[in-house]
Amino acid sequence: STVFISGANGYIAQHIVKTFLSRGHRVVGSVRSAAKGQHLKKLFQSDFEYAVVPDIQSSGAFSSVFSRHPNISVVIHSAAPSYHQGPKLQESIIDPMVNGTNALLEAAWDHEPVRKFVLTSSYGTMGMSRMLQPKSAPNETITEESWTYTNKESATTKGPMVATMCGKVFSEQAAWEFLKRDMPQFELASINPAFVFGPQAFDSEVKLVMNGSVEMLHQFLKGKSSDRMPTLVPGSFYDVRDVAEAHYFAATSNKADSQRLLLANGQFSSQQIANILRDNFPQLRDVVPEGNPQKIPKVKCPYDDSHTRALFQHEPIGLEQSVVDTVAQIIAAKQA
Ligand code: NDP
Repeated sequence: STVFISGANGYIAQHIVKTFLSRGHRVVGSVRSAAKGQHLKKLFQSDFEYAVVPDIQSSGAFSSVFSRHPNISVVIHSAAPSYHQGPKLQESIIDPMVNGTNALLEAAWDHEPVRKFVLTSSYGTMGMSRMLQPKSAPNETITEESWTYTNKESATTKGPMVATMCGKVFSEQAAWEFLKRDMPQFELASINPAFVFGPQAFDSEVKLVMNGSVEMLHQFLKGKSSDRMPTLVPGSFYDVRDVAEAHYFAATSNKADSQRLLLANGQFSSQQIANILRDNFPQLRDVVPEGNPQKIPKVKCPYDDSHTRALFQHEPIGLEQSVVDTVAQIIAAKQA
């Protein structure tokens, strides 16, 4: 079958494309420029085609993709602005998320052969209420039924992180509302990963500054061991290769229909990342602060993903492996 994916050049999307190609599917991916498309064609060197969609928000943005590729039966919406410093949070983050999701849903609805629509959402739509409501239910266990508390006004007045989370909530909600209201011919599933770690799909994609979640690890390599430990928001993670596997599962199994898949594989802290790096890469001992290796904060796991694990029976990659693979690739790229 032919799979369409938006934002095909993104960090996670490249892994999704790779997974579908390796299993014999044709993939059409949208990018914002022909140069980005040509770059991907060189990387994938197989049954991959690109479509240039310069503005995902314009109505009819995706219609020519479907008329040119009538066999598309699976649609994956992965394009979204990532954490973005600067003014105009509504225009630069929230609008492209919500309008882009609606534009692609409408195009897929107009195209009868589409059977599945998989939305790359975020754990942030489930478990981040405390960012906007610091005193909200501190002991609430997050599940696939949870929704992050949002508020239209604070969405754009509390900085880019909150805007990003709110934009993900509004866009995922728009998709579920579309399903209920318009009763399209396709099934919908959402993939809700926590911070995504893991290597780039291709070694040549290692950059000086990488996408938000990988940059969280990358920053540990940019200082000196005498620096202060980088502060990370204590969070949960999931490996990018497993995130791609979850998209494949959602696209190919009816078990994921109408489901939100909560993808998280435990909590991490700065100290744990530092320990993993110093233990596995002796050459990083001058670079990564030691901190107090024994002092790993004990955090109660804030979520319960048993529903997702029962559906998507997949053993995810652990924190150490994920961090080691990410950083080994960066070190190798710098030496090359
Ligand atoms: P990347 O920044 O690597 O990729 C983002 C993709 O979206 C790129 O193709 C980018 O295109 C495209 N894009 C960004 N803004 C726009 C816009 N305004 N219009 C059209 N296309 C746009 O991010 P990730 O791979 O990390 O993220 C992919 C998806 O996963 C997103 O939906 C994100 O919200 C979600 N996600 C990511 C997590 C993470 O930790 N990384 C965690 C949870 C969810 P271009 O290259 O042209 O800018």
